[in-house]
Amino acid sequence: MLNQDMTDEEFAPYFAKAQEVSQFFREIGPKYDQENTFAYPSIEVFKKSGLGALPVPKEFGGAGGNILHVSKVVSEMSRGDSAITLAYNMHYIMVGIAGNLMTEEQNKYWMGRVADGELIFGPFSEKRAGFSGLADMRAVPQPGGGWKLYGKKTWGTLSEAADIITTNATETDAEGNLPDTFEDRVAAEKLFIGDFKVDENGIGDGVRIEKTWDALGMHATGTQVIHFDGFFIPEDGFVSVWRAGAFGVLEWASLMFASIYLGMQYRILEESVAKLSKKHLGATFGAIVAADTEVKNVGHIIDGIGDMATRVQLSKRVVYQTCEDLINGRDKDWQPELRFPYLGIAKTFTSENVLHMSRKAMSLVGGESFRKGTIFERLYRDSAASMFQPLNADQTQTYIGEFLLNTAAAANQG
Ligand SMILES: Cc1cc2nc3c(=O)[nH]c(=O)nc-3n(C[C@H](O)[C@H](O)[C@H](O)COP(=O)(O)OP(=O)(O)OC[C@H]3O[C@@H](n4cnc5c(N)ncnc54)[C@H](O)[C@@H]3O)c2cc1C
Repeated sequence: MLNQDMTDEEFAPYFAKAQEVSQFFREIGPKYDQENTFAYPSIEVFKKSGLGALPVPKEFGGAGGNILHVSKVVSEMSRGDSAITLAYNMHYIMVGIAGNLMTEEQNKYWMGRVADGELIFGPFSEKRAGFSGLADMRAVPQPGGGWKLYGKKTWGTLSEAADIITTNATETDAEGNLPDTFEDRVAAEKLFIGDFKVDENGIGDGVRIEKTWDALGMHATGTQVIHFDGFFIPEDGFVSVWRAGAFGVLEWASLMFASIYLGMQYRILEESVAKLSKKHLGATFGAIVAADTEVKNVGHIIDGIGDMATRVQLSKRVVYQTCEDLINGRDKDWQPELRFPYLGIAKTFTSENVLHMSRKAMSLVGGESFRKGTIFERLYRDSAASMFQPLNADQTQTYIGEFLLNTAAAANQG
């Protein structure tokens, strides 16, 4: 596992830097949401901040921040702008996942590059069955060693800024045929890492970015389609078998997504309080009949803000405590089958809360929040993305329910 031994004193300047970067993201965020493109000016600012090297161990030139440190930085940047931060979140996810699966020698090279400011992205999901579908992307072994990748990944967040790619593909025979049986396909699926060099049109050697991203929200993530047409991965770009390897480290995905939506909750509360503490309706004739209705004195608005603040506190405790539990090895108390979904609960809980809050904020603020360009309609659209990133709530419960119902001794899992 990556050696992440940063102290809290060492972390303080990184958090201060995250606050600065968050402010910059907050300023530029609306423009890129409106223009529906990646937030290009964020690249230089994020790279220069040194925050990309936060989780890289000191022996590879990084700061050695642990998953809680990274979670705090991600949630702080997400408070400024969740869409821009979600792009850089992919970098943290892949540093955590690939870094914990690579050999010492690979880490020295790749993490060394990250420590120097390079960015990693991870297009894994395919059209047929998202993240949990076995890869249709093929890795064809080459006579001189290494593989050529062929296929398409439909969710390539951060592709427009990344220098390093990590992805999964299924190893074929020399003619490019996928294995025949399900078990053989699982065993043949591999995680790779390689250089990601494309020109200003997104075209590289055997790889290209197709700019298709046009979604309800999270516009600035630049989640483009990545085409592989003979993209070469040398022998030393093999990291591990994918499914077996990933399961031990996928908390770097779920807890980082949880941190994004925690930061979004901070922002929803902040914006709701700022708006509702000042709003006057003047003379009203409705549920409240009065010469001047100040909304901060209206019962359901007082309750609504109290409810939001409670959800923010609960999410924060759940996300940060889950990170601490992991750091302190408490995940070993669970049955191995429950480890991943139990850690993932932090994400599904935060997702439920942010979805609730973004809707509630609009109903409390009223119709003006529905107009294009207001922060509230933006947060409502962006929060919807929380339903999809792994693990989603339905799949988490399926994992847990199936295990409990089929394993007699599991009923006492505390
Ligand atoms: C803003 C944004 C950015 C993203 N960026 C990236 C990225 O950079 N890299 C990347 O790899 N992905 C990325 N994704 C993709 C995302 O993580 C999901 O993989 C993708 O949304 C498709 O998977 P899905 O499970 O939602 O849908 P599908 O796989 O199509 O699932 C359809 C339905 O089947 C259910 N289902 C799926 N698999 C199973 C299963 N095994 N068991 C039981 N039920 C199942 C689902 O819950 C759902 O109800 C991004 C998504 C968003 C929204």
